[in-house]
Amino acid sequence: MNALPAVRVSNRGAARLRGGHVWVYRSDLVSADRIPPGALVQVVDPKGKPLGTALYSSSSQIAIRLVSTRAVEDLATLIRERIRNAIAYRKMVVRHTDAYRLIFSEGDFLPGLIVDRYNDVLSLQILTQAMDSEPARQAALAELQDQLRPGGIIERVDARVRELEQLPTREPGLIAGEKSSTTFTMNGIKFHYAGLEGQKTGSFLDQRENYAAAAQYAHGEALDVFCYQGGFALHLAPKCSAVTGVDSSRPALEVADQNAALNGREIEWIEANAFDLLKDYSAAGRQYDTIVLDPPAFAKTRKNLDTALRGYKELNLRAFKMLRPGGILATCTCSYHVGQSDFLSTISEAAVDAHRTVRILEVRSQAKDHPALLNVPETSYLKCLICHVSG
Ligand code: SAH
Repeated sequence: MNALPAVRVSNRGAARLRGGHVWVYRSDLVSADRIPPGALVQVVDPKGKPLGTALYSSSSQIAIRLVSTRAVEDLATLIRERIRNAIAYRKMVVRHTDAYRLIFSEGDFLPGLIVDRYNDVLSLQILTQAMDSEPARQAALAELQDQLRPGGIIERVDARVRELEQLPTREPGLIAGEKSSTTFTMNGIKFHYAGLEGQKTGSFLDQRENYAAAAQYAHGEALDVFCYQGGFALHLAPKCSAVTGVDSSRPALEVADQNAALNGREIEWIEANAFDLLKDYSAAGRQYDTIVLDPPAFAKTRKNLDTALRGYKELNLRAFKMLRPGGILATCTCSYHVGQSDFLSTISEAAVDAHRTVRILEVRSQAKDHPALLNVPETSYLKCLICHVSG
């Protein structure tokens, strides 16, 4: 037993934790009186039996985030130890890149802390009350500096999450060192990183292994739809005769163009709504050998799952229609609410409607530096299917 304040959870909350999950919703709390926001708490079942140590949030629907099934006395010490473990894990799973996610919140047993590494610059994001406390911040910063000696650490701010967690507003910016921009190299391809510019900084590190996988099969004329700063397009370019990237964001395409120049590649970038463009191109009978579809999350909640699936189906149907025999489709969803089987059946329906015979080359997920916990399904979100259109 330790001196932490205790939070009592219902039988349902206790069963969830005993089943290996790490969250308890507010509706499953029995008593959490006078617990300060962001406190480290002891979680007990209705009979008072300890279930572990957790971070408490006074405002989020996820009231409890378990950090250990044992007693923990000091959050700062725990953070420092877990950061060292996260770095050691990356040494095992990360290859061919100096940019990857170093700390992935629950996936690294540090709920609410996300740290990405872009070569010598780190980008940090804090998403929970407990991680926002001064001792927690200081512990994270000190350990990151001790272990990695980065040129700079940037803080990214998600205003919506901070509002949900009732955290004071913060400006994004440099919180340690001097460097906020750099170049990084992933699978031999170079990218610009500017930590303090653009509406959204950073890149989609979770697709790193999928870039390399798609590039293995890419050939001929390629179309990268929802290309952002050109992650897939740049990986396809060495294998293809021509590559076109499509995105609705002009700032993203400007960075994409700079990335192409950095690698000495000529890629055509088109600013357009992907739905309109695919409709027009398929109606005009355009043909490609390789198509990538990597849309934003259409299903932000379970409620709009059906609409989201219709969106995925439309995109994939048009892509299948435009692929030459022998063509490759790499198609993704980053919606947690779209499960693996929902996604597969949507793509199958699209293939049937497009009258195409399709083989599955690879069923993939997020890169291993975004660890998914077996018993916490919410940590698995990205699905990527690579298909071969036989006829
Ligand atoms: N494939 C990218 C990540 C894509 S993220 C990579 O690997 O880096 C989703 C992208 O979709 C964003 O860049 C966003 O600007 C773009 N987007 C969102 N809605 C769109 C639309 N209707 N048409 C075209 N692009 C869109």
